[in-house]
Amino acid sequence: MASTFQGGVHMNDRKSLTNRLPIKRIEADCPVHIYPLRQHIGAPLAPVVKPGDTVLVGQKIADAEAYMAVPVHSSVSGKVLSVKPWIHPSGGMVDAIFIENDGNYTPAETMKPAENYEKLTNIELLWLIREAGMVGLGGAGFPTHVKLAPPEGCKIDYLIINAAECEPYLTSDHRRMLENTEELVDGIEIAMRILGLKKAYIGIETNKQDAAVKIKQLLGKDAPISVISLKPKYPQGAEKQLIKAITGRSVPSGKLPADVGAVVINADTAISISNAIRKGKPVIERVVTVSGDCAALPGNYLTRTGVPVSFVIEQAGGFKTEPQKVIMGGPMMGVAQYDLEVPITKTSSAIVALSKAEEIYDPDMPCIKCGKCADHCPMHLMPLYLSKYALAKDYDMTMKYHIMDCIECGVCSYICPSKKNMLANIRVAKQELNNRKKQGGNK
Ligand code: SF4
Ligand code: SF4
Repeated sequence: MASTFQGGVHMNDRKSLTNRLPIKRIEADCPVHIYPLRQHIGAPLAPVVKPGDTVLVGQKIADAEAYMAVPVHSSVSGKVLSVKPWIHPSGGMVDAIFIENDGNYTPAETMKPAENYEKLTNIELLWLIREAGMVGLGGAGFPTHVKLAPPEGCKIDYLIINAAECEPYLTSDHRRMLENTEELVDGIEIAMRILGLKKAYIGIETNKQDAAVKIKQLLGKDAPISVISLKPKYPQGAEKQLIKAITGRSVPSGKLPADVGAVVINADTAISISNAIRKGKPVIERVVTVSGDCAALPGNYLTRTGVPVSFVIEQAGGFKTEPQKVIMGGPMMGVAQYDLEVPITKTSSAIVALSKAEEIYDPDMPCIKCGKCADHCPMHLMPLYLSKYALAKDYDMTMKYHIMDCIECGVCSYICPSKKNMLANIRVAKQELNNRKKQGGNK
């Protein structure tokens, strides 16, 4: 029987647009690549190259000394043109390195397999993962070397591979698992070795049966890696909901998965760990699902990082009708883009182009007090009150209603018959509270 969590929503996942289409590599050369200096959660990066420098594929171009940081690498060979502020997919402007592509794709010397893998210590493996610029590729961008080194005193029992991919339209992880199954299993085994675990669990929704069958066939009987079937439900791929579904453990408010003995990594991240150790390949490519009712040729496209979204859309046949909205990521948690010159980063999982008819959120109408938002909230919060106090800027009351536990899944807004966009209000209040915290005040 498939496992799940309490709350959430069943939705038309629209995955049939792309889930049977093999990954297609974009072969065309993009003349200029753009690499934002913010591609992970943690300390900001500084460039380690300057305008006029020549760079190679896989060469580090930005880094930081902080533990909570990973470098960014060039995905092309060519010349550094400039470092200047540019639009970022998550909104706002961020410094970015512009590189002119020479079209030769000459690899850096560092792009080679790790020597003496068997003899490498955990610290050396974690360093290689860090140096490859590895982050959670599911969208969060949390540095992988930090995740795989839980704080002292946290006993880890579970390594969980997040293969839920529960957002509508997204199928890039699904195709990666199907087409890169060996790398997936290898990456999981490397992570198990680092964590000193004898077992790992792949949590996969039952709408990816072909991938689950292929993984099980490769693993064979009595393998230390188990495939756990999950009900297709949103947000099954949220860390706390995934841990609950697989282990039965609840991550308490304000705590991390490691506090309940779990480490969760995304399926694509596991594949990239294998690539980093076995090939010395940093995160310089990405499978991006291009989908939505306005996409001319929906599919899963393998692209180098740093190309503008407009380039990927052009290579995917453009739009068949003018979209109302273009979203980076899924329609529930993704970010609407207002300028398609924004670049593909490590965490860009999808470009979804939607007409007005496909938009999930409509304008607000008055609340009819049905209670559906609270019934379906996967974090068991009271979204209506959170939204109300957020709008009133009553931050004490939002804290009383545990606003910081909100995972910004958007279920409340989606399920609301009055189409109240509670999430938008909650996000603004959370941002304000985070800013105040950074400034050191409570109010
Ligand atoms: S309150 Fe937050 S966690 Fe709950 S449904 Fe709304 S967005 Fe999701
Ligand atoms: S789901 Fe919408 S209408 Fe129902 S109680 Fe919540 S805010 Fe009100």
